[in-house]
Amino acid sequence: MLKEGTSRAEGRDAIHANITAALVVAESIRSSLGPKGMDKMLVDGFGDVTISNDGATILDEMEVQHPAAKMLVEVAKTQDDEVGDGTTTAVVLSGELLTKAQALIDKDVQSTVIVDGYQIASEKALEYIRKLAIKVNPNDKGMLKKVAKVALASKLLAEHKEFIAEMAVGAVMQVAEKSGTVFKADVDDIKVEKKPGGALTDTVLIQGVLLDKEVVHPGMPKRVEKAKIALINCPLEVEKPEFDAKLNIQSPDQMKGFLDEEEKIMRDMVNKIADSGANVAICEKGIDDVVQHFMAKKGILAVRRVKQSDMEKLVKATGGRILSQLEGLKPSDLGQAGLVEERKVSDDKMTFVEGCKNPKAVSILVRGGTERVVDEAERAIHDALCVVRDVVVEPFVVAGGGSTEAEVSRMVKAYSQKLSGKEQLAVQAYAEALEIIPMSLAENGGMDPIDSLMEVRARHQSKSKWVGIDPINGKVADLAKLDVYEPLAVKVQALKSAGEAACMILKIDDVIAASKSKEGGAPKGPKESGKEEGEGES
Ligand code: ADP
Ligand code: MG
Repeated sequence: MLKEGTSRAEGRDAIHANITAALVVAESIRSSLGPKGMDKMLVDGFGDVTISNDGATILDEMEVQHPAAKMLVEVAKTQDDEVGDGTTTAVVLSGELLTKAQALIDKDVQSTVIVDGYQIASEKALEYIRKLAIKVNPNDKGMLKKVAKVALASKLLAEHKEFIAEMAVGAVMQVAEKSGTVFKADVDDIKVEKKPGGALTDTVLIQGVLLDKEVVHPGMPKRVEKAKIALINCPLEVEKPEFDAKLNIQSPDQMKGFLDEEEKIMRDMVNKIADSGANVAICEKGIDDVVQHFMAKKGILAVRRVKQSDMEKLVKATGGRILSQLEGLKPSDLGQAGLVEERKVSDDKMTFVEGCKNPKAVSILVRGGTERVVDEAERAIHDALCVVRDVVVEPFVVAGGGSTEAEVSRMVKAYSQKLSGKEQLAVQAYAEALEIIPMSLAENGGMDPIDSLMEVRARHQSKSKWVGIDPINGKVADLAKLDVYEPLAVKVQALKSAGEAACMILKIDDVIAASKSKEGGAPKGPKESGKEEGEGES
C-alpha cells in the first residue's frame, strides 16, 4: 500500500522514537539555562562560528533534522516571536513533560490519557500563575530595569547588565505610547545596529535614527545642527531618455539647450528643497551627481538609498512626512532633529539623526571587541528590549530562579488530589515536570539538584512562594528579595507552548516517512532500508 522505501513506525514505537528525538534537543540546551548556564559554540557547514546562550539561536543553528525534534525548535521560535525571552525554559519544559510521559507510558498509561491530563494541568497552571503574578506600574523604571537585568543575567555581557538594562528601559519607554489605560510598544521601533570595534561600554542609545550610510557628496556639510529634514522617496534625478529614443539634435546649440534644460530641472529640485527651509535631505532613491552638486552649494546635507524601513523610522523620530514628489513641499512637512552628523564608526561612515524631540523611534548602536561579541550582545539586547516591552504592555511580573515553577507545581499537585486514577497520575506528572526548571538552575549553578529541590519544596509548603534557586551564590533563596523578576507574559507563553508541543508529539502514534529522494544529493541517506531504487519520477 505504501511506496517502496517508505518507513513506518506505529503505536508505542512511534511515540518512543519521537520522544527520544525531542529529548536530545531539550537535553542539549538544558545546560545553558540560567545565569550560570554555559554557552554553546556552533559551527555551520561553511565553518562560520556562532557562540550563544540563547535557546532560539542555538536550536536554529543546530539544523535539527528529526520531525519531532523540529517541533521543539518551533517552540523556541514561537517563544521568541511572542515574548522574546524564555526560549530555553520553554524547550526544557517540553522535554521534561515528554520524559514524564514516557515514564507513564512505560507503566501502561495510554498516551491519550496523558494528553488529557496535561491539558487539564496546563489550564490550571495558567490560572494559578496569573493569580500568583504581581501587578506593577508600567512606568516603574526601577522594576523594568530589574526585569531587563534578569534577562541579561545569563548572557555574555552580564557584567555590563546594569548599563545595558538602563538603555533598554530608556529605549522602550521612549517608543511606548499610551492608548487608553494600557501601553503599546513595539520593539521594531528600536533600531539595533551593530558595528564590531570599540568596547561593549561604547554601546549607545540614540534619540533618533542611525543610518548605515554616508553623506553623499564631499562638498556637503558633515554636521548640521537644528536640522530640518526633507524625507523624500522619489529619485532626485532627471529621467534619462530610453536607450533607443531618438534625440533630434542637429547643432551644438541644440545640445547645449538640451543639457541646460536638464540642469534647470535639477536646479529647480534643489531650490524647492532649499526654499522649504530644509538643510538636510534624506532620500530613499538615488540622487544625481548634478543635484548633489547644487545641494552642496546650498549647504544641504544629503543621504541617499536609505531603506524604506529606516524612512518609516525617520518619520516616527523626526515628525516629518515622506514626500513622493517635491511639488508643494511645505516647511511643515519637514522633520526635525537636534543634530544630523556623519561620523566614522570603525571603518564605516554612518549618519546619525539624533537629538530628536520625543522620538517614537530610537536606535541602539552596539559596539564590542569582535563580530561574535557584537552578535551575541545584539541578541542579549533584543531579549532585554523584549522583556521590558512585555512588562510595559502587560504589567505583571513573577519571581525567577524557578520559584514560580515550583509554586505552580505545588498548586497543581494539590489540585491533582481532587482527581483519581490515571488522570491524577498525568496531572501529577505535569506538576513534577515544572520542577525541572529549579533543578536545572541548581545543577547549572553547581548545586545538588535533588537536595536543592527538596529544600525548595519544603519552603513552598510553608508558604514561601518566591523561594527558588540563586545559582549565582549557589543557594536556595527568596528570589523576590533578590529582585529577580520576570515578565508574567514570558512564563505564560513558556507554559503554553511547552504543553502544546509535548501534547502534539504525544498524540502521534504513526510515523510514515517517505524514503529520502536521491536528488538533493546529501548523503544523509535513508537509514531504514537499503531500498532506494527508482522513485525519481512522480
Ligand atoms: P531562557 O532562554 O529561558 O530565558 P536563560 O538562560 O535566560 O533562559 O535563563 C532564564 C532562567 O534563569 C529563568 O528561570 C530565570 O529566572 C533564571 N535567572 C536569571 N537570573 C537569575 C538570578 N540572578 N537568580 C536566579 N535565577 C535567575
Ligand atoms: Mg532569558
